[in-house]
Amino acid sequence: MNSEQKTNMDITFVGSGISSSFSILNLLRLRKENAAEDKLKMTIIEKYPEFYKGIPYGKRSGFSVLLINALDMFLPQPERAEYIEWLNQNIDSLLEEFRKDGGHLAEKWILDNIDSIRANNWDKLYVPRAFFGVFIEEKTNEIIEELSNKGTLEVNYITAEVLDIDETNGMYKLYLNTGEEITTLKVALALGSLPTLKLFNDQEIVEEENLLLVNENYSLELDNILGKIKDFASKREGKETNVVVVGANASGLELMYKMSDIEEIDSKINNFSFISTQGVLPDFGIDKEAYDSFKTTNLFALQERESLTAQEIADAAYKDLDRAEALNIGAATSINHISKGFGALLDKLNKEELENFTCFHGNQIGRRQRLAGIHYLDNIFDLKEKNRLDHITGRFSSVKKNSDNEYYLEYKDTATRENMQYNKPTHVLLNCVGSTNLQKDDVPVLIKNLIKKNLCKPNKSQLGFYVNDALEASKNLHIVGPLVAGNIIKNRGIWHVEHCGRIIWLSKILAESLQAEMIPSRN
Ligand SMILES: Cc1cc2nc3c(=O)[nH]c(=O)nc-3n(C[C@H](O)[C@H](O)[C@H](O)COP(=O)(O)OP(=O)(O)OC[C@H]3O[C@@H](n4cnc5c(N)ncnc54)[C@H](O)[C@@H]3O)c2cc1C
Repeated sequence: MNSEQKTNMDITFVGSGISSSFSILNLLRLRKENAAEDKLKMTIIEKYPEFYKGIPYGKRSGFSVLLINALDMFLPQPERAEYIEWLNQNIDSLLEEFRKDGGHLAEKWILDNIDSIRANNWDKLYVPRAFFGVFIEEKTNEIIEELSNKGTLEVNYITAEVLDIDETNGMYKLYLNTGEEITTLKVALALGSLPTLKLFNDQEIVEEENLLLVNENYSLELDNILGKIKDFASKREGKETNVVVVGANASGLELMYKMSDIEEIDSKINNFSFISTQGVLPDFGIDKEAYDSFKTTNLFALQERESLTAQEIADAAYKDLDRAEALNIGAATSINHISKGFGALLDKLNKEELENFTCFHGNQIGRRQRLAGIHYLDNIFDLKEKNRLDHITGRFSSVKKNSDNEYYLEYKDTATRENMQYNKPTHVLLNCVGSTNLQKDDVPVLIKNLIKKNLCKPNKSQLGFYVNDALEASKNLHIVGPLVAGNIIKNRGIWHVEHCGRIIWLSKILAESLQAEMIPSRN
């Protein structure tokens, strides 16, 4: 394509994960329903050489990791019904690929779930994530092909990183790391979540004789990372090798699961540890008796009040969470009560207080409501039973090389606030601490530039940008996906957009707004 053809594109998507794929899918379905005759010109720019799947559902996550939620919690209707129909048609080849990629734990997943699969009981299964990637790729390609064949769509794919964006006279110019420049009327930024906060230096991987530090688990492909751990552990054959995972969230459990799944890693690791400030793992399984008897008394007490502040609702939610924990009731059992309890009170907040709740409290409450699938947790129980797993309750500080040339984990103990050194040496240190924020220096260059040029303004959460109800950060510059966090959209406070159902909801809002405003290109 010559540079002249690259001007006046109607819309350019930056990033090609499921936020962008669902937006494209919904936009094209709308155009099909409305029998649009004009030609839509679309560019999709993705820095990683794979389109539509993003980080969790494509090659960067590999083919043998699982959803963190059961299918009925992952995907709303009508998308779930469409996905299940597709799963039933494709399951044999999907399972073959899953089996090839995974080890004995993948085999166990198949064994445990094959009866439900054959009986079409998918809703409660923690389905391998990659299956969804294959599905979304196929569905998006299908409609692109159909409309392209009809002559009403032209799609241009570019593998490059967008480094900067300028706006002049109502047109946007995108600067790519390949030196190319793309001019476009509309932009949809679908960049995913902010990158992981680095542990103690900004290198993605550090390898020394006695330490392997991995700061980024997915951008370099999980299979690559697992390969590096395997090689590092093999080189240490005969010596003690311990793994420390910083952060006990879903990605920490996932790494533990995959290390156990790969015999060449599992057999060479002596001890695994988590370090997390709360010392609690995500939960699984509802305790029916506790579910029936638990009452959110603190949240309930606020129901009679006519108006409330965000802080009052959050304080009541924390007290109810404390009560649940004191009664030994896990997050899987309490989540429904707590979420319904505070959800029913949000109408009592004025706009400013709803924004405060959205930006400062929603995620904090969510941190104490983490859930995971039984296959990931079973692996943890198994390691514990074999005395191969510790959970340190504290805040990671660093690793320090002692006189024996070994690295030791340093942390601040949550209960005593004292600085401590963990007594076992650390050899593999895996960073699962969660995302950075928009106030920090380590945000990607594109985001820095967008802020500097005032094209996007960080909202109070520092996790996302202000957008209007058409998801615009500036005129014709839309955002979809996790960077919408911290907004009130259609009167709903959105504190995170990591959930597929919410991504689909936002993608429909974007598709409708684009469809309403789309200016036919000059053909
Ligand atoms: C490892 C992992 C597992 C998860 N598991 C689950 C789960 O089981 N259930 C669930 O509900 N949610 C899960 N999530 C939440 C997840 O955020 C969403 O499900 C969803 O994938 C977000 O999609 P996205 O398209 O917004 O972001 P992404 O999938 O991150 O896609 C964004 C894309 O933009 C590209 N990009 C970024 N910057 C640029 C640039 N400057 N130029 C060009 N391209 C760029 C990236 O390479 C990437 O492909 C998981 C998230 C992760 C990271």
